[in-house]
Order: sequence, then C-alpha cells, then structure tokens
Amino acid sequence: MRAPAKAHTPGRRILRPKAGGVARFTPFKPTLARANSLPLDHPAIVEGRTLFPGKVEGPWTGRLLISGINNPKTGAKVLKGVWAGFPIYTLTLEERKTCPRSCTVYTQCYGNGMQWPKRNDVSDPDFMAALAMDVAAAARQHPDGFVVRLHILGDFYSVKYVLFWALLLEMFPNLRVYGYTARRIDADDLESRKIAQAIGILTKLWSRFAIRTSHPEFGPGRSVVVDEDPKLPDVIVCPAQTEKTAACATCAMCWNPALQRKTIAFLRHGPARGRRPKEPIA
Ligand code: SF4
Repeated sequence: MRAPAKAHTPGRRILRPKAGGVARFTPFKPTLARANSLPLDHPAIVEGRTLFPGKVEGPWTGRLLISGINNPKTGAKVLKGVWAGFPIYTLTLEERKTCPRSCTVYTQCYGNGMQWPKRNDVSDPDFMAALAMDVAAAARQHPDGFVVRLHILGDFYSVKYVLFWALLLEMFPNLRVYGYTARRIDADDLESRKIAQAIGILTKLWSRFAIRTSHPEFGPGRSVVVDEDPKLPDVIVCPAQTEKTAACATCAMCWNPALQRKTIAFLRHGPARGRRPKEPIA
C-alpha cells in the first residue's frame, strides 16, 4: 500500500513547474519575528566573513550569474513595468567580507541562514573577468534586455568594482541592474563614503541602475528594515513579504522610476528566533 502523501507545511519549499516569470520554488514564508544576531565575539563577526567559508568559491566552479528561476524572491522573468519581459539573473558575493561594518543588519544578515548558495570570491584575480564574460553571454542571449539583481548576499566592495559596473552598463545597453547597498554617503568610514558617492552617480541612470541605499531612516531611494509596517505614505512594505505578490518579477516596484523617491521597507527576517546559527566545520 502506498504511503499517504506528506502534507505541505507552510514555509517549506516545494517544487512546481515553471510558472510564468516566477521561480521553480514557492517562496519561504518570511520570519516576521526579530531575527537572531550572531554575538559580537563570534569569529564570523570578528573576522568579517560568512558563516560558511566553504561556500566561497572562485569563478572556475561555475557561472557567476544565476538565473532567477532558482530564486523564489526574484523570479525568472519580469512580468510587469518598464522591464517587462526581461529575464532576471542574480549575483551573490560573500556577506560581511564585502560589506561595511555600518550595515544595519551586519550581525543579523540573512546569509547566516543560507548555507547552500555559492558566494563568489571577489579576491580571486579572475573574478571581474569571469563576471564580465557572464554578462556578455547574457547580453548576447537577450538582445532585448536582461536584469541583474545585485547582490543576493554581499555588497559593492570598492570604487573600482562600482566603476566596473559603469563600464558594463556602457558596453551592454540591454543590461539593467537593481538591488540594495549598505554603502552610505553619511557612513563613518571614508571607503564607504567614496563607494556610495560612485553608486550615487550611477543611480542618476535609475532607468538602468536602480540601487537603493539600505539605511536606518526612511528617505528617497532607500530601503529600510522594519519590525512592522510603519504605515507612512512614502513607505511601501515589500509586497512579496506580505504575500500580496509572488516575487520581484511580479512586483517591479524597487526599480519603478515613479517610485524612486519612496522608501521600500523590508520586514526584519533571518534565522528564526531560537535557531542561533553555529560555526560550521569549514
Ligand atoms: S518591493 Fe517588489 S521589487 Fe522590491 S524587493 Fe519587494 S518584491 Fe522585489
């Protein structure tokens, strides 16, 4: 006798066929409760690195740009707005190693709960060349346009890296970029201020480079982590977190030029309370 099928538990990933522009997986139900922090004396915090150093890999281990079909938060292809029809790719760097310590969720990074994704090693001398080749391949494959989501984990780690993206935008007119950065113009450290300044210049080209600044306070072009909906007219809570839409592919608000001056608020998420991550055996 066949065993009865297991009931689907909320938040558990299930495979489903390619559904429009959405990913192969149903999204995780967000953990709305306050996320756990790593303690300040945790080696990953002290050394400024991922909790999973074994997942930091050079470009020889495979593609750097990953199709959004594999990411339930982005989806595979934009279905609405100014970039409708464009496929989505994602890029993942090493969290904390590439991020400023001033990031408001430095210890709470949701990478603490993501032990599987490959983190591309930006210290590898071939990193930028390999990434440029991936972008060039996507540009050839999608002459009408494609989108890169920066960064699933990690951040812009140098001015040179921002200029590298400026060059890619120049070389590939069909390239579009969206994402978030914790590099702030009002940061304490000079390096972050310089990187933020370079990003700020590129965001003047918002129709192609829509990078929001993660900030503790609400403001135009920013993203903010909140514990609950502040219910302010210029603040939009990410509708994918409240199950009003499936993914970025079906939302398109973060890069919508008409909403650039609004703040996008993300409900605090990460490893659930009580599941404090342990240092893995690398
Ligand atoms: S607001 Fe929309 S586009 Fe922005 S992260 Fe949420 S789902 Fe994606």
